Amino acid sequence: MDTSSQNDRAAWLRGRIAKCAHLPGRLARPLRVVLLGAPGVGKGTQAALLSQRYGACHLSTGDLLREAKTQSSREQTLAMSSALNFMRHGALVPDTIVWQLVRERSGCFQCPGGFILDGFPRTLAQAGALQHLMEAEALQLDAVINFELPASEIVARLSGRRTCATCKAVFHITSQPPQFADTCDRCGGLLYQREDDRAQAIVVRLQAYERSTAPLIDFYSAKGLLTSVPAAGEPEQICLHTMAALEERKVNRAAHSGDASPAARGLFVV
Ligand code: AMP
Repeated sequence: MDTSSQNDRAAWLRGRIAKCAHLPGRLARPLRVVLLGAPGVGKGTQAALLSQRYGACHLSTGDLLREAKTQSSREQTLAMSSALNFMRHGALVPDTIVWQLVRERSGCFQCPGGFILDGFPRTLAQAGALQHLMEAEALQLDAVINFELPASEIVARLSGRRTCATCKAVFHITSQPPQFADTCDRCGGLLYQREDDRAQAIVVRLQAYERSTAPLIDFYSAKGLLTSVPAAGEPEQICLHTMAALEERKVNRAAHSGDASPAARGLFVV
């Protein structure tokens, strides 16, 4: 597959010193959304699909922490090595460390194509910090999509998941196998099982979700931003439902605001 025109997310994954190889063109109406949902509901897969459709950058805190893991131990600060230890066991990384990483990348929130936040925020403290950042950057979230899936399916998805070591594309050994064993269809990279997709870590992650992340559903619902989408079925189908939910929100918002201009009523894409 030709990956030459895909955004490599360098500025997000490696921080300010790096520049993205291909910035999307400036859109009249860039999409800015948060994806919520338990680990394993498919946020990463949906973020990648939505990113292809809308041109918005896929901002995953999990991906940037995994990127930090690829640095040699001498390059890693003490705080970062302790953060990676939390991650390895399926626990949440402390808010201060995650927030420092996100704040250093605040330029990505101004991405001309918009953004899709995947895995952030994960606690009420992070959601509050994001809100302040958005206000400071004079930006607004368009929606928060909450992907819903029964717990039994979540465990099956996590334990069969394989991730590309190079481009981070996500596969599943039965429901979305790669064409060639252990090889990424997108870039030819090696597929591996994340440490935190192993059985003991899955239990810890689901507990962390219930305790710290599930309260965000009420937080964003109270702000009128939340839209729930069932996450069972084929990724393409779920993506279509998500796009329909986003477009519906757009039309509803235009109707409530009385703004009937094409920009207000139009799709998120130009
Ligand atoms: P993910 O790829 O989103 O499933 O994240 C993998 C792991 O990275 C999580 O289980 C946490 O250990 C850590 N992590 C990612 N994002 C956050 C966050 N916003 N807050 C705390 N920990 C995070």
